Amino acid sequence: MAELTNTFSWSFSAAEDFEECRRRRYWAKYAMWGGWSRDAAEEPRTAYRLCKMENRYSLLGNAVEQAVMWVLRQKQAGRDATVEEAYQEIARPYLNRAWKESREKRWEQNPKKYCCLHEHYYATAGGNEPEEWTRTVAEHTRQCLANFIASVLPGLAQVRREQEIAVATVAQGDPESFDFGGVKVYAIPDYVYRAGTAVHIYDWKAGKPRENHADQLALYGFWANTKHGIPAANIYVHIEYLLLDSREVRQLTEADLQGVEEKIRDSVQDMAEYLVNGDIRRNEPVPKQDWDLASSRGACRWCNFLELCAPELGQE
Ligand code: SF4
Repeated sequence: MAELTNTFSWSFSAAEDFEECRRRRYWAKYAMWGGWSRDAAEEPRTAYRLCKMENRYSLLGNAVEQAVMWVLRQKQAGRDATVEEAYQEIARPYLNRAWKESREKRWEQNPKKYCCLHEHYYATAGGNEPEEWTRTVAEHTRQCLANFIASVLPGLAQVRREQEIAVATVAQGDPESFDFGGVKVYAIPDYVYRAGTAVHIYDWKAGKPRENHADQLALYGFWANTKHGIPAANIYVHIEYLLLDSREVRQLTEADLQGVEEKIRDSVQDMAEYLVNGDIRRNEPVPKQDWDLASSRGACRWCNFLELCAPELGQE
């Protein structure tokens, strides 16, 4: 089998991590490399394992995403699924399995296959008892499903499968990406379809609105433009805040796409400063100590890599 190489790549979340904490990018992109091997040294193995960690918010997002797509597929097959059916059929089994795997520490055998929850690993239940946060995740999942069925599904009910543009997911192996000047850029919108010359791009949000969501959706627009040749004016981005039953819809402009291009270029340039000779093709990181720790320790509380930074943070 050909040897895997750690190629330089860019994504919205990688850029966010890099901005918030240089060291987090180092752990997530470089230190973890090869950590899946049983023969790997302790640090890469730990970094790889921690990379895979989930938390209550990612769990909620995953459960909602899976259940929403199931509801949509049911609709396309001529069935109106209820909230309770979607919850019992898709969301609940996923949530229960993740919680159980994490509690039983099954990730010790295989961190890629079995879930490890931040709340269990670091005992960070945010002041809530475990029962309280798990109940909240279940309630929010149901609420998101109810709002999707009432407010979003009617607008998608007539979309046929052949109108959809396929988006490769993380679960499928190599997720959706495109080439931008030799850099692999990941962009994984939740749902995309064509309607005539227009393309509609959806992202389901199970949490609160954040300022950078508009930039994230503009990146998805850039993916549609670069990979599928869709002009900016034909791209409509939809952010569905399912928990709040609110939404933002926007037709993109050339200026939006140029803004994304500039953002990627600037960010790649900043990241390259942490590579030997600034060479993204070689993609060899500068030594660990040159990747600064977060300037605000608030960023560490929910960070997966707290264990690895603890000695330098004086938390041992
Ligand atoms: S624990 Fe803090 S310093 Fe370490 S990677 Fe995470 S955010 Fe950065």
